[in-house]
Amino acid sequence: MKASQIAELLNEPACAHNTKEKSGCARPKPGATAGGCSFDGAQIALLPIADVAHIVHGPIACAGSSWDNRGTRTTGPTLYRIGMTTDLTEQDVIMGRGEKRLFHAIKQAIDSYAPAAVFVYATCVTALIGDDMEAVCKAASERWGVPVVPVDCAGFYGTKNLGNRIAGESMLKYVIGTREPDPVPAAALADFRQRAPGGRVHDVTLIGEYNIAGEFFPVAPLFDELGLRIVGTLSGDARYREVQTLHRAEASMVVCAKALLNVARKLEEGWGVPFFEGSFYGVADTSQAFRDFARLLGDDDLAARTEAMIAREEANIHAALEPWRARLKGRRVLLYTGGVKSWSVVSALQDLGMEVVATGTKKSTEEDKARIRELMGPEAKMIDDGSPKALLSAYKDYGADILIAGGRNLYTALKARIPFLDINQEREFGYAGYTGMIELARQLALSIESPVWEAVRRPAPWARTKAAGNPVGA
Ligand code: SF4
Repeated sequence: MKASQIAELLNEPACAHNTKEKSGCARPKPGATAGGCSFDGAQIALLPIADVAHIVHGPIACAGSSWDNRGTRTTGPTLYRIGMTTDLTEQDVIMGRGEKRLFHAIKQAIDSYAPAAVFVYATCVTALIGDDMEAVCKAASERWGVPVVPVDCAGFYGTKNLGNRIAGESMLKYVIGTREPDPVPAAALADFRQRAPGGRVHDVTLIGEYNIAGEFFPVAPLFDELGLRIVGTLSGDARYREVQTLHRAEASMVVCAKALLNVARKLEEGWGVPFFEGSFYGVADTSQAFRDFARLLGDDDLAARTEAMIAREEANIHAALEPWRARLKGRRVLLYTGGVKSWSVVSALQDLGMEVVATGTKKSTEEDKARIRELMGPEAKMIDDGSPKALLSAYKDYGADILIAGGRNLYTALKARIPFLDINQEREFGYAGYTGMIELARQLALSIESPVWEAVRRPAPWARTKAAGNPVGA
């Protein structure tokens, strides 16, 4: 990828991180890619497309570092969970065999698994040796009649966010707009007409929803009920043929993911698909997301049915949350997560009667910070420093009962013997939508009330014996 193309991707006008002085995403510093390079970001964004063979063109370590790094779930094919790599060695690099190995790897993937398409990801090594991935993918596609899509995402291009954006750009360039959606199945249409006589079915899409831990499964039926057909997503539980049709959506929602704003913006510019940014975390935000769809689609009948659905769901969920609220009320939370989640999770926790003592804002925009002040008041404590030392001292200073953060902070919390909840992509439980709130409340209560904390904070038996004046072994 040329430097000018990378610069163009870094400058995303729809992203609030963009300023006149500097580009939207920070340039990587040496070593910074260790926490997630562009290749990693591209895989994160596309790996959930379940019926695609995802081939990593590079040394095996790149595939090993990124494979299965998100617990994304699917209702159908599980091809995406098979790690595929060209496994380049020094000999291949020296002998210039990269392109040949890639061609054969594509053939092997097609012969063995008959995928809907093959995606090929570049890595640092194959970008440095100058393999012409685009030409190989084109030749392979012509030879075997299966779409083969190059994703030029070498790790050294930049950060994980840039990788997300490159992935979105590859979808725009090679996939979206290459097929028309199937008609709505007659049985589903008849069922909808019976429930909503005179109602219209609208095609919509979700961008940046990854179905982590299957968290979107309980939300999807609400879309069906309202007659909002999800033509495809980027990329939770997606199929290749669905992604091809995203351009026909009548509205799109960017779900907690500024990095894919380029896709939403270009769908709007190219095909007139309006978009909004929203979240499915918390009762209020989930309801707002459905209201925003009705607003963008300009359908009064849909708006009325949406309000009725919201009233029913909110009443049910508030009743179901009551016992959990009693257990969690007044508990103090230190939240350290990034971007949109810095405020969307605040609102979910407040729904449970908890007090958020401080929230991390390292990756938040000014707009995110304004939302935080709106929710937590003008004196809201925002922390930028996510180092273990800073997090633990904030935890102590603010008298928190639990740390909610990403998986990389897990061991900080365990070593400090404090309750912890993983909120980022590696989490094993889904918290989206109305019913996701029950899971969130359950996991919070289990973590805070676990008897393990009392046990591990007690002095060790040998320390107690020593303090009582009886040396160990006496
Ligand atoms: S693509 Fe580059 S930075 Fe990313 S894992 Fe591979 S070698 Fe490391």
